[in-house]
Amino acid sequence: MKYGKKIVALAGGVGGAKLADGLAQCLEPDELAIIVNTGDDLEHLGLSISPDLDTVCYTLAELANPDSGWGRDQESWRTLEEIKKLQGPDWFAIGDLDLATHLERTRRLREGQTLSEITAHFCRRWGIHVPIFPMSDTPVRTYVHCQDGRCLAFQEYFVKYHFEPQIRSIEFENMKNAVVPEKALTALKNADFVLFCPSNPFVSIDPIIQIEAVGSIIAQKKVIAVSPLIGGEALKGPAAKMFHELGMKPGSSAVADHYRAILDLFVLDHKDEAQIALIEGWGIICKALDIFMPDRPARKRLAGQILKILDEQT
Ligand code: GDP
Ligand code: CA
Repeated sequence: MKYGKKIVALAGGVGGAKLADGLAQCLEPDELAIIVNTGDDLEHLGLSISPDLDTVCYTLAELANPDSGWGRDQESWRTLEEIKKLQGPDWFAIGDLDLATHLERTRRLREGQTLSEITAHFCRRWGIHVPIFPMSDTPVRTYVHCQDGRCLAFQEYFVKYHFEPQIRSIEFENMKNAVVPEKALTALKNADFVLFCPSNPFVSIDPIIQIEAVGSIIAQKKVIAVSPLIGGEALKGPAAKMFHELGMKPGSSAVADHYRAILDLFVLDHKDEAQIALIEGWGIICKALDIFMPDRPARKRLAGQILKILDEQT
């Protein structure tokens, strides 16, 4: 059944992909578009790799590893084992099936196709009907400035150093030259609601909304965000740790505060209900739901509840 309104969801990797999949289960393909962070992209072993884009695509295609949330299900690691044997860079795990994606993406990029064209093609081949866009067709790269003075490319910080270094600030290189795919801009312009998935605010959502072309449209839209933190903790990754190191107490209200200037509606977990009054005091409508998505049905349930809340707003 048609929902009747258009949603654009912004997503990073694992957390974002879960809610994006829930929305895809509830909405018709022409009612949803997903814009994905590419600040985490890297060149590795000569390949162009887009980890968040792949996570979202694999998840919607039901090809993702259900335990880790990233990479492919039924994966094998023979290539990586050989790279290790040859003393190549094995810190970034690429499985054999995943490798095909990076090889073919790299080949097509070298042929002159854009990342958004390649993503659209892959999505068709994987049976995904919802449009999925990279936030930029040109490289934007996230760097982490650490308190020890190092400046690390995002995947070095995240994978090689297991997000152990304390961070001082985050920088997005080439943000000014970002080229947002035309169809993504059209989807944003036509959207009734822009939804920030429960992704890391600093390194998954910020890189998307800090692109001028995206930010200026979003400023005119009704924006809803879902907290990636439950009970002050991240389910995975460095989101809570980052709040702490950037001088804020990690929690759902800190997430809402981070988005405060653009947020109309915020969804947090029942466990964090005590923070609703504070957030509503900022003029943001705040609702509590069960925002933990351990499986596919939970994603659909949460997406359905959010869509119902949005429906009540109009
Ligand atoms: P990454 O690029 O793979 O790190 O993924 P994202 O930035 O999209 O998501 C990371 C965030 O997802 C973390 O802060 C997690 O706390 C959050 N997350 C993961 N699973 C869930 C879930 O089931 N519910 C909610 N609300 N957040 C989740
Ligand atoms: Ca990511």
